[in-house]
Amino acid sequence: MPPIDVPVSETSGLKYKRVMLKISGEALMGQEGYGLHPPTVERIAREVKTVHDLGAQICMVIGGGNIFRGLSGSAQGMERTTADYMGMLATVMNALAMQSSLENMGVYTRVISAIRMDEVCEPYIRRRAVRHLEKERVCIFAAGTGNPYFTTDTAATLRANEMKCQAIFKGTKVDGIYDKDPKKFDDATRYDDLSYDQCLAENLGVMDATAIALARDNNLPIIVFSLDEPGGFKGILAGEGTYTMVHG
Ligand code: UDP
Repeated sequence: MPPIDVPVSETSGLKYKRVMLKISGEALMGQEGYGLHPPTVERIAREVKTVHDLGAQICMVIGGGNIFRGLSGSAQGMERTTADYMGMLATVMNALAMQSSLENMGVYTRVISAIRMDEVCEPYIRRRAVRHLEKERVCIFAAGTGNPYFTTDTAATLRANEMKCQAIFKGTKVDGIYDKDPKKFDDATRYDDLSYDQCLAENLGVMDATAIALARDNNLPIIVFSLDEPGGFKGILAGEGTYTMVHG
């Protein structure tokens, strides 16, 4: 891993200095069945701010499933590519909501889109994005990879590689990867760590196969943790708390 330009003194107690936080669009909808729940967006933004204040360089990718998913659109008869573009546009709305919440808290951010929409946000230019990170701006990557037939998990893995993040942090509703759904089965067991190949072979559903393979081929760890625990993101970045690490 090439050196990352963050003085250690600025990252008090953090084990990771440049990270990718991936959350699904559904994480922003709280208990609502659809769309955005502003207090939930704010709660997650506060988690990000806490880590940002400690000096970590933060990239984010937010899904769009709270608004629109390409697959469900195509299941209803829509042309798949069109439906996927709609899904990508949904991620831009979520990114703007997160930007607004973070900036209300005084955190500088950039929304960087894989699809050009210059009046709304910046286009993706890798070197410019790296510069934003160095200047302590949270980079929220929107519009996925810019291509249909992909997911935002893959977009997060792609951008994490390009930005030379040390790990992807996948914030979910549970504190790691289990052998079965812990919300349904009392005897579900959490894995402390897993190999990429195990995840793929057992189809554990942490991320789609394309994303896991891309992480595996670039030796990028995936850390699955609960975003519902207050202070959880900070704890995980300090190497504390419970989580599952997927690595080589
Ligand atoms: N999408 C896409 N290409 C990408 C990323 C996303 O076409 O590179 C579309 C796809 O239709 C997907 C939707 O955007 O269903 C929302 O993304 P995702 O399902 O990954 O969101 P999440 O489940 O994380 O909320």
